[in-house]
Amino acid sequence: MARTSASPAIVWFRDDLRLSDHPALHAAAASGAPVICVHVFDPARARPLGGAARWWLAQSLRALQQQLNLAGASLVLRRGSADKIIAELARQTAAGAVFWNDIAHLPDQVISDQLAAALGETGVRSHRFPGDLLVAPRDIRNKDGRGLRVFTPFWRRLQSLGDPPKPLPAPRTLRKVAGLASDDLESLGLEPKRPDWAGGLREAWKPGEHSGQQRLKEFLDGGVAGYASGRDRPDQKGTSRLSPHLRFGEVSPRQVWHAARFAAAERPALTGDIDKFLSELGWREFCRHLLFDQPDLAGRNLQSAFDNFQWRQDDNALRAWHRGQTGYPIVDAGMRELWHTGTMHNRVRMVAASFLVKHLLIDWREGEKWFWDTLVDADPGSNPANWQWVAGSGADAAPYFRVFNPILQGEKFDPDGNYVRRWVPELAQLRASLIHQPWRATPLELASAGVALGLSYPAPIVDHRKGRERALKAYENLRTR
Ligand code: FAD
Repeated sequence: MARTSASPAIVWFRDDLRLSDHPALHAAAASGAPVICVHVFDPARARPLGGAARWWLAQSLRALQQQLNLAGASLVLRRGSADKIIAELARQTAAGAVFWNDIAHLPDQVISDQLAAALGETGVRSHRFPGDLLVAPRDIRNKDGRGLRVFTPFWRRLQSLGDPPKPLPAPRTLRKVAGLASDDLESLGLEPKRPDWAGGLREAWKPGEHSGQQRLKEFLDGGVAGYASGRDRPDQKGTSRLSPHLRFGEVSPRQVWHAARFAAAERPALTGDIDKFLSELGWREFCRHLLFDQPDLAGRNLQSAFDNFQWRQDDNALRAWHRGQTGYPIVDAGMRELWHTGTMHNRVRMVAASFLVKHLLIDWREGEKWFWDTLVDADPGSNPANWQWVAGSGADAAPYFRVFNPILQGEKFDPDGNYVRRWVPELAQLRASLIHQPWRATPLELASAGVALGLSYPAPIVDHRKGRERALKAYENLRTR
């Protein structure tokens, strides 16, 4: 097929499954060319998606298909190696240009570069845009040209750069290229079939741009009031629940930024809550910048001293943690919430992660892997960076002597025990003062709450005090070595 002035433009959708604030789509539509929208599922991507994230991706692609249809276009789905498939699609359709948003992570950049090179050889233009961050990593560097490794100066620097560009509107209409074959979404094999374990995910979430934008609006219209303190309470709906929408780019960080700033300008009383909320978005950004500087963030300690850490190998304990059977109610509630809904409240993520690496002394990479497979928001930056933060091996890590006490954390942040009651129903009848430490209940109290410790609910797999001392010793050894 010969290339002409009416040649189509290809838009490659990646982790940016939205129509609004999509620089590549915006530019392709503005070029006036008919548009071919394509998503390539690459099962061999540097880090294959985990099960929960694959489920999310399938729903998100379905939503994107519908939205593109409404705008007059369609979504071509393919499976395989993105650079090869898109270069071939460009050849078949005599496309004049390919547009896409870059991802600031080395393996994704390598694919982008390979595609650009392949297109260049056949005279197809590449148009690449920054798309998934507020600020490009190369714009926040220290004097030696390296990324900042401590959050507070990073956040200060990012804010000093001023507001990011305003989000772009979604193109109103798109010119479609008819007759293009697409793989079936089902054939990508993203959703679980036998067994279909995604029932809890379906109950908890509605993926897609429309639902993400609505969630952002509802949160800023109401939920954000009290965020600064309420965000730590797993028993309340105090956070935005935007993370999987951000992860898959159904909502862009620029959209969140500007919507939040607008809300603060309209209701100055909310400024404190909104600033706190934006600083959490800053943590997402920070984690992605760390990933840019260390592409193997999920495999390698940021502090190399940790390469010598003596982690324990304890498969039984790891299995108990996976299944929410550690005997610590707040940890177990979190792990079960994760299994059922594909998410876990941030405070509980910290407590559960700390329990694994400190009380059980199990390598943070084991926990990171489990979260990667079970979280709908499993993020290549935020997941390993937060695990390294908890383990102490990270850039801006928690001090080594901080060992979260799962009993006190439960009592402080789930004071009535309602979060535990929801996810650990076998303890539901215990009163609040016992629910975070059921082993303190008398036999009569246990019997009247229907709890048989060690049978209906496990006794703690490690004693808190002993676990804490063992952790401190191991960390102290590392420090003095
Ligand atoms: P809100 O409190 O409403 O925050 C708004 C947004 O800020 C979030 O949607 C998220 O994008 C970002 N954010 C908030 N806290 C953090 C943080 N600590 N680090 C990075 N970004 C943050 N978040 C992920 O998106 N993906 C992960 O894979 C992930 N793994 C984690 C693993 C551990 C061990 C821990 C302790 C935290 C992890 N987090 C991860 C961070 C955090 O728990 C979630 O972003 C948050 O719970 C999402 O809920 P929300 O959208 O209601 O957050």
